[in-house]
Amino acid sequence: MKKWYRKLHWQIIIGLILGLFWGLFASMAGLTDFTTGYIRPVGTIFIDLLKLIAVPLVLASLVVGVASLNDMTRLSKMGGKTIAIYMVTTTFAITIGLTVVNVMQPGGTLPVETRTALMESYGETVDGREDTVEALQERSPLEFFVDIVPENFIEAASDNANMLQIVFIAILLGIGLVKIPAQKGEPLIHLFESLNDVIIKIVDLIMKTAPYGVFALMAAVIVDLTGDDLGQALILLRALGWYCLAVLIGLLLHVLIVYSSLFKIFSKMKLRDFFKAIRPAILLGFSTSSSLATLPVTMEKVEKNLGVNEEVSSFVLPVGATINMDGTSLYQAIAAVFIAQALGMDLTIAQQLTIVLTATAASIGAAGVPGAGIIMLVIVLQAVQVPIEGIALILGVDRILDMARTAVNVTGDAAVSVAVAHTEGLLGDLHFDDED
Ligand code: ASP
Repeated sequence: MKKWYRKLHWQIIIGLILGLFWGLFASMAGLTDFTTGYIRPVGTIFIDLLKLIAVPLVLASLVVGVASLNDMTRLSKMGGKTIAIYMVTTTFAITIGLTVVNVMQPGGTLPVETRTALMESYGETVDGREDTVEALQERSPLEFFVDIVPENFIEAASDNANMLQIVFIAILLGIGLVKIPAQKGEPLIHLFESLNDVIIKIVDLIMKTAPYGVFALMAAVIVDLTGDDLGQALILLRALGWYCLAVLIGLLLHVLIVYSSLFKIFSKMKLRDFFKAIRPAILLGFSTSSSLATLPVTMEKVEKNLGVNEEVSSFVLPVGATINMDGTSLYQAIAAVFIAQALGMDLTIAQQLTIVLTATAASIGAAGVPGAGIIMLVIVLQAVQVPIEGIALILGVDRILDMARTAVNVTGDAAVSVAVAHTEGLLGDLHFDDED
C-alpha cells in the first residue's frame, strides 16, 4: 500500500494548495512578474501536453471502438441515448441554478458603489466578447451540423476545438473498417490499437508531472486575480462572495442530486466510489479549467477505474467534453439572474424559462476551454433583455468559478458514460488504482 501522500490525487491537491499559497505570497512580495515569467510556463507546458494527445487519443480509441461493433444500429442507439441523457442532466442543472439564485438572491446584496466600480473597471473587456457572440448569432442553427463535417482531415485535426469533427472522422473510419473484409481491415485496426495503447501510456507519463503543472497553474490564476494588490482582490471577493457561494452551492447540489439519481436509475454505482475512481480527472478539470485538456485523463480513469468499456467511453466522453456542460449551464443561469438582480430588474417566469432554453444552447455552444462559459453568457443575457454590460460585474471572479464549473462538467461526462455503459451491458468492475 502506498503512503497517502504518494498517491496522485493527494499530490495534485498538495500542488493546488502550494500554488495557492505561492500566488498569495507572490502578490504580497511583488513576485508577480517572476510567477508569470517563470512559473506559469510550467503550467502551460503541462496543459499543452494534454491537449497534444487529445486528438490522436480520441481518433484511435473511437476507431477501434466503432470497428469492433458488428451491428451499426448499436452505434446510433448509443448516440441517441447519450444525447438524450446529456440534455436531461443539463436541464436539471439549469433548474437547480435558477432555484438557488431565486432563493439566495445574491444580486440584492451588491452595494451600488461596488456595482458602479465594477462596471467601470471591467466594462471595456466586455465589448470584445459581444462581437464574438454576434458573429455566432448570425449563423443558421444548421451550421452546427455543417461544422461537424470537416472538409479536410488535417484541418480538422489541427484544432482541439474541432473535437466533434474528429469524432465524425473516427466514426466514418470505423464504419468503413467494419464494411470491408476483416482481413483487409486488420492492419489498420492493429495500427490504431497500438497507437491507442501508446497514447494511454503517454497519459500516465504526463500525469506524473501533474502536481507541478497544477502548482504552476494555480499560482498563475491567483497572481492574475490579485495582481500586485491582494487587498483589492479581497474586496472583490467579499462583494461577490454571495454570488460565488450561490454558484458553488448550485454545483454541489447538482452533483449530489442529479448524478446520484442517475446512478440509482441506470446503474448500481455509489457516488462515493465514482468519485474515488475518477478524482484525478476532476482535480485536473478544476486546475486546468478546460474539459478538453482534461479529456485524455477522463478517458483513462473512466475506462480503467470505472470499468466503462472503450466502445462507450471513446464516443460519450469526447462528445460530452464538447457539448455537455452541466456546470457551465448552471453557472450561466445563476449569473444571468444575478446580473438582473444587481441591476434592479425582476425576471418573470417566462424569462426564466427562456433562460432554461438559451443556457442549454449556450452551454452546448461553449467550447471546453477556459472562459468559454462567460462568452456564451451573452446569448442568455440578450434573450432575456438584460444589458450584457452587466457581465462586467462578474468578470473579476470568473476564473475561480470556471475552475469549479469545469470540474462539474468533467464529472457530468463521466457520470453519463457510466449510465450509458450500464444500459448497454458494457460496464465492467470498479477498480481502484493504488497510484491514484
Ligand atoms: N471552462 C469550461 C470547460 O472547459 C467551459 C466554461 O467556461 O464554462 O468545461
